[in-house]
Formats: sequence, C-alpha cells, structure tokens
Amino acid sequence: MRIVVDWDRCTGMGMCESLAPDVFEVDDDGSLIVHSEEVPEGQEGEVREAVASCPTEALSLEGE
Ligand code: SF4
Repeated sequence: MRIVVDWDRCTGMGMCESLAPDVFEVDDDGSLIVHSEEVPEGQEGEVREAVASCPTEALSLEGE
C-alpha cells in the first residue's frame, strides 16, 4: 500500500505527523516530508488514521 500526497492541497498543518510520526514529518518551514511512500509494516493503523484526519484531504492510499 502506497501513500499518495496531493501537494497542492497540503498546507503543512502537521496533523499527519502527530498521528504517524515515523512516516510523516513537517519541517520548520511547513513542508511535508514523507519518510516512506510504502506504508511500513505494523504502521497501517496509524497511517490510515493520518490519511483520514488530514483537514485538507491531501492524503490518500493506493493499492489497498
Ligand atoms: S495533515 Fe494534511 S495538510 Fe497537514 S501536513 Fe499532513 S498532509 Fe499536509
């Protein structure tokens, strides 16, 4: 399963980082860094929660 980011929608709010900090990071200037495009084993729950919680719906999952 792969994480897809709609970069035009992401506003760097960091909700995803707070829910799945191993996968998402928002740096000091508000840019999102995705550490692993593939959802790491054992992190599916956190990543799904992060995807569902993004206020701008910038995140989606591919290959479910
Ligand atoms: S929660 Fe959504 S808008 Fe905020 S940094 Fe993550 S992807 Fe971007």
